[in-house]
Amino acid sequence: MCIFCKIVAGEIPANKVYEDENTLAFLDIKPVNPGHTLVIPKKHYQNLEKIPEQELSFLILMVKKIGAQLKDKLKVEGYAISANNDLVAGQIVPHLHFHIIPRHEGDGHEPWSRREYAPGEAEEILKKLKG
Ligand code: AMP
Ligand code: ZN
Repeated sequence: MCIFCKIVAGEIPANKVYEDENTLAFLDIKPVNPGHTLVIPKKHYQNLEKIPEQELSFLILMVKKIGAQLKDKLKVEGYAISANNDLVAGQIVPHLHFHIIPRHEGDGHEPWSRREYAPGEAEEILKKLKG
């Protein structure tokens, strides 16, 4: 059983902020900023490709609801939503989860590094994506 399934099953504790029949939201144990929340489906799906569309639709609505709650109750100005999909993208816990990360002016957290497209590179990518 994965660590988040253990939290769902009540085998290990978590600071739960929201729970319904299908969804659980709890505070990340190592927050980027205070209030950093993880939103998960109670059923184990490894990643975005595995979860059925209807369940994902419900889950993302819960992300919206909990994000609004953070803004309202914690006076968070804005937040980043991220899902590290697969190991190479930084997914450590193999149970689909959305991070809601409160952001504040000047909190110093930069997003990932960026680069320029080489000449013709974007066109190549588009060809593959649309082909
Ligand atoms: P990811 O890299 O997207 O898989 O992120 C997994 C997140 O789960 C990390 O931010 C961890 O701090 C968090 N995490 C791991 N174990 C626990 C736990 N027992 N309770 C709360 N958060 C956890
Ligand atoms: Zn799981």
